[in-house]
Amino acid sequence: MILNGVDFETYFKNYPDDKGYFGPYGGAYISEELKAAMEEISTAYFTIAQSRQFIAELRRIRKEFQGRPTPVSHLERLSNKLGNVQLYVKREDLNHTGAHKLNHCMGEVLLAKYMGKKKVIAETGAGQHGVAMATAAAYFGMECDIYMGTEDIKKQAPNVARMKILGANVVEVTAGQATLKEAVDAAFAAYAKEYKDCIYCIGSVVGPHPFPMMVRDFQHVVGEEARAQFLDMTGHLPDAIVACVGGGSNAAGFFSGFLNDPVDIYGIEPLGRGTALGDHAASLQYGTEGVMHGFNSIMLKDENGDPAPVYSVASGLDYPSSGPEHAFLHTLGRVKYDVINDEDTIDAFYELARLEGIIPAIESAHAVAYGIKLAKKMGKGSVLINLSGRGDKDMDYIIEKYGIR
Ligand SMILES: *Cc1c(COP(=O)(O)O)cnc(C)c1O
Repeated sequence: MILNGVDFETYFKNYPDDKGYFGPYGGAYISEELKAAMEEISTAYFTIAQSRQFIAELRRIRKEFQGRPTPVSHLERLSNKLGNVQLYVKREDLNHTGAHKLNHCMGEVLLAKYMGKKKVIAETGAGQHGVAMATAAAYFGMECDIYMGTEDIKKQAPNVARMKILGANVVEVTAGQATLKEAVDAAFAAYAKEYKDCIYCIGSVVGPHPFPMMVRDFQHVVGEEARAQFLDMTGHLPDAIVACVGGGSNAAGFFSGFLNDPVDIYGIEPLGRGTALGDHAASLQYGTEGVMHGFNSIMLKDENGDPAPVYSVASGLDYPSSGPEHAFLHTLGRVKYDVINDEDTIDAFYELARLEGIIPAIESAHAVAYGIKLAKKMGKGSVLINLSGRGDKDMDYIIEKYGIR
């Protein structure tokens, strides 16, 4: 498939380019010191990650530790209720630790091990990336420092406990608002000092090159499996696929299996409470081009041009930008980015639980809600949704805010 001059047959050879750009988006907007560190990671990635030994080890870990491949399930009762469109979900909720995040964390920490590093550093907001990193670090016997704002530490006590039980060192960040932004700054500052002995592991397809590429590649397994499983189950490709987009890692991996296929692709951002700045985190829908956290992409800015405050009912989606590859696929028109609000998300959350026996993560419920909307509009055909994670982590919040419906 060729679209606006981009050939999707050879897409992965050409994007990103060797400076880390997807068209105008991406790059590495960081200090000279950190640039050297990123180049070391890039070089290692291009040699080590292509080696037969690394690939074989990652494959074994995915099978024997993570429980891959995760299945694709047909949502028969939900499909019947909606009409003639058949809905399916790729079950990343069944990946070890309950979400897709472990896919790239295991890849990043295995790379760190091959590079001879002793420690991994990461930031976390709601704690999901921190738990996945702590899990990977425990598996490989690495030291692990997780930077987390004081405010988030207070709100996310169970995840803080999980990280500590897994042996990670949770470093409290008290600066500024003491949330994710300050945690990212503190983690980068620590990394600049310690990069000889450790690597920094980013939680999504964001940050400076090579992270958007590496994280996408480690998540590619989701799209690759899903495509083969769907073909095997039905004998054809889905008409449409859907994933939620925060930073965009689950979507990037899932989409990467289908970019060269005649399949409509939808990336869903959170519309939260509404369209006013501060009430949503739909950066591709309402944002403009800019640089943050070391990369150029489309982002939501405040009146000073700084990253704007964002909101979503799903803490994993409230990020003021999206990965550079999503900005590129958006500009090209290969992926259609659309939005779903809190209300439709919560309805879909209960609907999937009641009709299918699957409690989704609130993040993933955004994709389910959009799949339901799409099914009503399409009238016939099939839709494959990436169920990025399970809802166990959201139970207390759901019960407190929405009750038991
Ligand atoms: C973190 C998270 C997301 C959002 O991250 P992406 O990088 O956009 O995939 C989505 N779903 C779940 C379950 C998550 O934990």
